[in-house]
Amino acid sequence: MLEVEVWRRLLGIDRRTVIESIEFDEDADAIVAHVRPRRSKKRRCGLCGKASPGYDQGEGRRNWRALDLGILKSFLQSDSLRVNCPEHGPTVAQVPWARHGAGHTRDFDDQVAWLVTHTSKSAVGELLRVAWRTVGSIITRVVDDARAAHDPFNGLRRIGIDEISYRRGHKYLTVVVDHDSGRLVWAAVGRDKATLEKFFDLLGEERSHLVKLVSADAAEWIATVVAERCPNATLCADAFHMVSWATRALDDVRKDIWREAKKMGAPTLIARIKGCRYALLKNPEHLTDKQQMGLARVAQVNKTLYRAYLLKEQFRLVFQLRGKAAIRALDDWCDWARRCRIPAFVDLYYRVLRHRESIVATLINDGLSNALVESTNTKLRLLTRMAYGFRSTDNLIALCLLDRGGYCPPLPGRREAA
Ligand SMILES: [Zn+2]
Repeated sequence: MLEVEVWRRLLGIDRRTVIESIEFDEDADAIVAHVRPRRSKKRRCGLCGKASPGYDQGEGRRNWRALDLGILKSFLQSDSLRVNCPEHGPTVAQVPWARHGAGHTRDFDDQVAWLVTHTSKSAVGELLRVAWRTVGSIITRVVDDARAAHDPFNGLRRIGIDEISYRRGHKYLTVVVDHDSGRLVWAAVGRDKATLEKFFDLLGEERSHLVKLVSADAAEWIATVVAERCPNATLCADAFHMVSWATRALDDVRKDIWREAKKMGAPTLIARIKGCRYALLKNPEHLTDKQQMGLARVAQVNKTLYRAYLLKEQFRLVFQLRGKAAIRALDDWCDWARRCRIPAFVDLYYRVLRHRESIVATLINDGLSNALVESTNTKLRLLTRMAYGFRSTDNLIALCLLDRGGYCPPLPGRREAA
């Protein structure tokens, strides 16, 4: 193999690029490969790829960080000419080895994106010697690129709409998942009508009319937009959110009893209720032995709290059934909750009654994955924390799409094996 061919393989560049020379930069302790796009390749606009006449020398010579070679950093160095695109005006010309506007090669970008979804934040920074802010820009480029190549909204029939809090609950993202592919398809900052309307604007009227099912928590603004934009869709209540209502009601009951017990100075009651929060709120199949005993003690000392617990559990069971049996269970639950004389659950009863139609729609529609909404919700929360230190919310959204939207690229050079 010719020496130049070895370098080409090492640097991961194809025949569209000519290697002019290789040098070792003592100061930077790095390998620098001087390259240029092959002459036969007409100059193209970096934004749209259209062949365009030359404009000027741009910033002159510049570096693109490439993947490390062994223990050394490496760079591709080239002129960064500008072309005069008929559409975009003077623009930096396209280069075969990097995405537009990038300071890193395509392979380097892809490696960053892969690592971000497979390892910790600190490992990515240490291993690749890049700042976290830079990582944010890189993954945004990777995701934008992938989404430009494939229409992310094709074939949407059954979608889930949710809101995710970030910045310690002060800010929100509205997210849309596809129940059929299991993927996150869209996210934007905000939780209101105007935000969600942006999604349906992108989807367009024709495709919005093809949407058959929309699952969501019971937020009014979602219901309003869905009714306007998707006339053929049934709105379903997310089981995950419904169950969380019951869990919250139970927690309210527990807090009231706790406060009451403290006011009265009832030490036995306090001692028994203390520390049973998780036992009450967790699904019974996940309880430890100790937590089960805690629950049994609750049953002994406070009938109200125990009844509230059973109401929560029965409500949760409704969503594990399907069809007629589920609707019957829902009606039984409503009967009980209406008469239970526990204010938090009487309130919940009225709330459920208001949303009965969309709850029933969930119960009779098979395959609306509650697990999907729940796991996406959990994962997105982790990702919003990981995104601390990014420059913008665009970077946060890119991280969410990269991980949950199926945009993680294969590792460089492994395309066939993937
Ligand atoms: Zn252009």
